[in-house]
Amino acid sequence: MISTFSFPTRIVFGRGALRELGSAARPLRIARPLVVTDRGVVACGLADQVFEEARRAGLDPVLFAEVDPNPVEKNVLDGLAAYRRGNCDGVIGLGGGSPLDTAKAIRLAVTHPFPLAQYDDKLDGAAKISANMPPMIAMATTAGTGSEVGRSAVIILPATDRKTVIFSPHLMPNVALADPELTLGMPPQVTAGTGLDALTHNVEAYLALGYHPLCDAIALHGAKLALRYLPRAVHHGTDLEARSQMLMAAMLGAVAFQKGLGAVHSLAHPLSSIAHLHHGTTNGILLPHVLEFNRPAVTVRLRDLAVAMEIDGSRGTPAEAAEALIARLRALLPEVGIPSHLGALGVTRDLIPAMARKAIEDACHQSNPRPCTEADMAALYEKAL
Ligand SMILES: [Zn+2]
Repeated sequence: MISTFSFPTRIVFGRGALRELGSAARPLRIARPLVVTDRGVVACGLADQVFEEARRAGLDPVLFAEVDPNPVEKNVLDGLAAYRRGNCDGVIGLGGGSPLDTAKAIRLAVTHPFPLAQYDDKLDGAAKISANMPPMIAMATTAGTGSEVGRSAVIILPATDRKTVIFSPHLMPNVALADPELTLGMPPQVTAGTGLDALTHNVEAYLALGYHPLCDAIALHGAKLALRYLPRAVHHGTDLEARSQMLMAAMLGAVAFQKGLGAVHSLAHPLSSIAHLHHGTTNGILLPHVLEFNRPAVTVRLRDLAVAMEIDGSRGTPAEAAEALIARLRALLPEVGIPSHLGALGVTRDLIPAMARKAIEDACHQSNPRPCTEADMAALYEKAL
């Protein structure tokens, strides 16, 4: 069997990387970028900081801050209108996963016909996406989704009535400017929720079906960094080393999940679209339950993770190591201030049937190491409740 691997994202990483904005924009011929962000990023002053740097570099940026916490199609349409009105020639995504994903969808919409539902990855939409779209620079202000190095945009579309994954190598930003200073102001709860997303990406990618030894190696290292540095980043927000390592863990996770994700993500998506909860937070709560479910299929792989993550008990038998890993991930939640159960976030039992139906429709579990049915999804929600 022939396999093909590629990691073409250009990443400019480190404290002060924001000051490379001009040298990132020039070769891409971006002079008038649409800066796609959200109100939170504007309110905490980060958008001002980026605008100041952009102007210093001779750019003429245009602001678009109307992105919802779980982005919807309207955000993309409004952004497209702003792009056209502003006569823009490129896109800067600034924020967490929501602005970055919306920025990707806007650059797609500039050159590709509507409706967006035709690009749904579940319907093989990638085949309809060409390289012809405006250039994009991504700047993350959270350490979680790693969308700055990823190939997908997740948008809730009315036509599909769910979080819809649009996936294409062409959606990948041309440059990721990864500056940990942009993440220093994240409050503890956001740090914890987004960090748990990064951790989940690495763990699910390592366990995902498919042959990808490059992603496997990246995922093991990303999982180790995320577990080691997340508590520090949550409790000492100004710890630049912890912030840097978490930003790297997030990018490693997103590179690794080119291989695939798993049932945690399929269960988490309806918790956002139906129960309006934070993606990463729900991933963190679901992760131990799904690992328990997957354990019979991947005991040895769970030990690999436990060893890489330097978990006490990881040197025992595979079964003991898997047990120790799951226990450690359970213990991590209270350590970073996240509740252990979905019920504590207001999820009620009556939502489970509708969410299980959406979860089974979601594409992520197709690479889960143990096949899941709708009844399995419902049972997993029940356990996590
Ligand atoms: Zn995620």
